[in-house]
Amino acid sequence: MALIHSGFEIIPGAYLFSEVAARVKRFQQANPEREILRLGIGDVTRPLAPAIIQALHQAVDDMASAESFHGYGPDCGYDFLIDSIIENNYTAYGVRIQQDEILISDGSKSDCANIQELFSEDAVVAVTDPVYPVYVDSNAMAGRAGSFDGVWSNIVYLPCRAENGFMPPLPDRHVDLIYLCSPNNPTGSVMDKGELKKWVDYALENDSVILFDAAYRAYISSADLPRTIYEIPGADRCAIEFGSFSKNAGFTGTRCSWLVVPKALMGRKQDGSQVSLNELYRRRQSSKFNGTAYIIQRAAAAAYSPEGLKQTRAQVAGYMANAQLILETLEGMGMVCSGGTDSPYVWYKTPGGMDSWQYFDRLLNEVGIVGTPGAGFGPCGEGYFRLTAFGSPEDTKKAMDLIGKVL
Ligand code: PLP
Repeated sequence: MALIHSGFEIIPGAYLFSEVAARVKRFQQANPEREILRLGIGDVTRPLAPAIIQALHQAVDDMASAESFHGYGPDCGYDFLIDSIIENNYTAYGVRIQQDEILISDGSKSDCANIQELFSEDAVVAVTDPVYPVYVDSNAMAGRAGSFDGVWSNIVYLPCRAENGFMPPLPDRHVDLIYLCSPNNPTGSVMDKGELKKWVDYALENDSVILFDAAYRAYISSADLPRTIYEIPGADRCAIEFGSFSKNAGFTGTRCSWLVVPKALMGRKQDGSQVSLNELYRRRQSSKFNGTAYIIQRAAAAAYSPEGLKQTRAQVAGYMANAQLILETLEGMGMVCSGGTDSPYVWYKTPGGMDSWQYFDRLLNEVGIVGTPGAGFGPCGEGYFRLTAFGSPEDTKKAMDLIGKVL
């Protein structure tokens, strides 16, 4: 038997969503006649937009003839998609990104999990608490997180609670890597330019790298909120950004994403000399990745056609109508809420001091609503709960008519 990597020896089971699924299954078996209203998932529910489906069909046809067939593509993506990403996500906001600073991939989950490979085993990692679990787990599997007893001994947690407006405080010790996510999963909070500048300044002063997850950027509608960290001067020297087609264009099952690794961003070698992180990540991809499928990249590019933009924006607006209803209902009940504007997640304090699993059970058993207990996202998530705007309008409306019964 081969000895396994020590990181996998100590990683705890993926508890949150399996426990949610187990409790829902038990409830369904005991109450087969009861309706279940699912507002717990982070997955989209609307089908791909017609412009995207049309591009998918066309790309499939391309593969059927020798003249337009595509085999292995460029490891880091086709220019037709890279150019559309740059134009719509960066140039549109006054940010200059070059073609070879964008790397197309098959999902932000893998990108967020893979990026840590570039950094030393001793790199000190900071995450917000609560947090999207992938950042922590990928570092734990790589052996960088230390030991686990509810929290990881080597991870620096940045508590985000109602008291600080769910904005992470700067760390009180040096950290090398900082994972930030805005709009945030799970808290729904969105960093403004001042907040982001605070982090860019910290990273530049401390030689840290910010790993900025912008998977939910399409949900920002307030004009003054940053759509990309590169709106902050100096971010190209300290930040890597992740973008995804999952939540703006419904690609959760289709899989396409990108990351931006600016050429100005440097790492340090053992001998103190500098090395381009862009070159290193390209090198990594060329050894470990053979590119996102041509068909999928064509479909992703169609999300930026005039029709594609119109249709995908309408989908996002549909989800945001759900978010608004959730937010209005909860605030109407006197709940302390975060998110719901500029974000598809609403995060709130459980009523009556219930812990988040107690509240989960009561919502499920009394009114058939499934949400996500905050404790599953980290210690500071205890006492909070997450509802998502990705359900159908009908289920969201039914759930909001019922939720006030559990107080
Ligand atoms: N980042 C965050 C914060 C997410 O919540 C998710 C998915 O829910 C992802 C990344 C994953 O996105 P993708 O579908 O592109 O892998």
